[in-house]
Amino acid sequence: MPIVTNLRVSSSWAAAEKTGTPDYQQNAFKASIRAKIPLEANQQFNFFMLMCSDIASAWAHVTPRLAVGATANLINAVTGLPTPYVVAAGHIDEWIMNYWSFEQIARLHAYIDGQFVLSNYADSSSVNYQQMVSGMDTSLLDPTGILPHAIDLTLENITSDPLDGLVMIVHIESIVGSPPFLDIKDIRCKFCGHITKDVNVMLTKNTCSECGMTTFYWSPVRGKDG
Ligand SMILES: [Zn+2]
Repeated sequence: MPIVTNLRVSSSWAAAEKTGTPDYQQNAFKASIRAKIPLEANQQFNFFMLMCSDIASAWAHVTPRLAVGATANLINAVTGLPTPYVVAAGHIDEWIMNYWSFEQIARLHAYIDGQFVLSNYADSSSVNYQQMVSGMDTSLLDPTGILPHAIDLTLENITSDPLDGLVMIVHIESIVGSPPFLDIKDIRCKFCGHITKDVNVMLTKNTCSECGMTTFYWSPVRGKDG
């Protein structure tokens, strides 16, 4: 049996043939990829993303490479709607993680209620993963969620080449008052921009009534009772 000396194990190890001796490879593999953050029943993740690529895709968060000097809003992967994302009154929203990997240098801007809060820079040809303790939380501004707040995240190409790569930002949205999370959502067709209103929040694939193209969305990730 190979001895696992670190957690950089590949999925092919997990599929290795059994030898009859104790085998901890799969546990090590799970430990390396499943650092889960448990969600309470009143919480959901918000995924704000942009994958800039020449590769065509039906996923809502995948867009063409970002042109030189251009700025684009990040996309809510559950709805396909670009930011700003409005956090309802009675909710708070906490920024917990950045992940990005770009071929070129990119600059991210964050705003709350239209006011600039911070910039982040993604180095070229590198992966950046960061778990933030506190960075851009509506709880800092409004701890009890008295008012709705708009979260805006934009990506700017500050290089001389069209930008290729991924940014993914994860927030936790928590209900501290009311209303509850909705069971419906509005979704945006990535091909023509048509908005289809009030579909089931679990819908992950929709063919547009306007242009006939199909867009893929993420299902929401929410905590469960009990
Ligand atoms: Zn369409």
